[in-house]
Amino acid sequence: MGNQREAQLQERLGRQLILFPLPLQGHISPMLQLATILYSKGFSITIVHTKFNSPNPTNYPHFNFYPISDGLSESQSSPSDVLSLLSLLNQNCIAPFQEALAQLLADKSGDPIACLISDAILYFTSAVAKNFNLPRIVLRTGGVSSFLAFAAFPLLLEKGYIPTQDGRAEELVVELPPLRVKDLPVIKTSNPEMLYEVLERMIQETKNSSGLIWNSFEELEEAALAKLRQDFPIPIFPIGPFHKHFTVSSSNLIAVDTSSISWLNEQSPNSVIYVSFGSIAAIEEKEFIEVAWGLANSKLPFLWVVRPGLVHGAEWLELLPKGFLEKLDGRGHIVKWAPQLEVLAHPAVGAFWTHNGWNSTIESICEGVPMICMPCFTDQQVNARYVSHVWKVGVHLENGLDRVNIEQAIKKIMLEKEGEEIRKRVLHLKEKTNLCLEVGGSSYNSVKTVVNYIASF
Ligand code: UDP
Repeated sequence: MGNQREAQLQERLGRQLILFPLPLQGHISPMLQLATILYSKGFSITIVHTKFNSPNPTNYPHFNFYPISDGLSESQSSPSDVLSLLSLLNQNCIAPFQEALAQLLADKSGDPIACLISDAILYFTSAVAKNFNLPRIVLRTGGVSSFLAFAAFPLLLEKGYIPTQDGRAEELVVELPPLRVKDLPVIKTSNPEMLYEVLERMIQETKNSSGLIWNSFEELEEAALAKLRQDFPIPIFPIGPFHKHFTVSSSNLIAVDTSSISWLNEQSPNSVIYVSFGSIAAIEEKEFIEVAWGLANSKLPFLWVVRPGLVHGAEWLELLPKGFLEKLDGRGHIVKWAPQLEVLAHPAVGAFWTHNGWNSTIESICEGVPMICMPCFTDQQVNARYVSHVWKVGVHLENGLDRVNIEQAIKKIMLEKEGEEIRKRVLHLKEKTNLCLEVGGSSYNSVKTVVNYIASF
């Protein structure tokens, strides 16, 4: 039975939820997945969204979509300066969101509204919801461990761990083991005060919320969740991995190149390295060339996502050495955007070279795919540390992005004994994700709890 049909047959609860995603790929996807889970439990769904990066409503005919103005100019409508974007959204959307809520609450034709579910980074929604006496639940789309590191920023500043000084990069942060100074979730910015303010407000308004939903699960982040429950005395609902509750509808902002799958179909099992650095991270020309040679020199097949915008100053592939692809003789396939969930689930894929965005990390774990970790900024550094040193399901590419290191890391994970051990561990972790979603499993139970909780508003 199709998911949608299955969901329609569920008893409707006669309550409506307003969901407001942060307009970035790694935030829109989990919010729409959460909406699908809650719809299947009987809630009707309204997605409030900005015009910038607006989701495609045709993939979700059973949801109501409500666009609001974000006041962003053309040059501001880009994730290239992500910090300014987050700050601007939190200022520009106040009045339009206030208006939207007023209209939605006044509209008596739909189901009565139970609560708002907002991305944690859209902290401004806290005051707006309060104006209407509307309960606000927060979705944090990253991992719990990195969130705790964000929450520790005042302490990290006080103890001098940040701003990061080069000489201390390897030092253990004793307050946040196993993180070292270089694993702290910082972002290079000329305006650190803006970063501290965004984080402080995100943490504060999460603490002030009526509950906190995670795309994570108890067995994966047990210790971090225990600490979170101490520090954030609000209801906590780890119900991930979201995308495994259903076959998910597409929420891609970029057109997917399906040749990825036909190309993978021609490859042997576990032979391909899948390479993608997500929707925002960008690298320098020099690094791009090293990635290309590292992949070529490994002599293994690879599927590489080169998103337009991945390389500073380049349109797409024009910086590749002349004749590079021809020399590979079909061993490499490059696309602008891949159907990542399908790619990771494909039997030909043997490893994932990732920037460790939380979605990519959890998607890789769910399919039992070992990782090569190349975090670029913020929570990716924390996720990479957990992948390589806590769950031990990946190798960390730490000693510079040069072709020799890359080739070694690829060979380690694809061909050597250590790679075999890593593969066993990630398959074991995959089993745990399956179990947490089964009847009586931790995420299964947590979904029940959150549904009852929201229905009680
Ligand atoms: N993704 C995709 N195709 C690609 C690259 C990425 O579908 O070619 C998806 C991926 O499955 C994930 C999201 O984009 O759900 C990226 O989110 P993540 O948190 O990993 O990184 P971000 O883009 O936020 O840095």
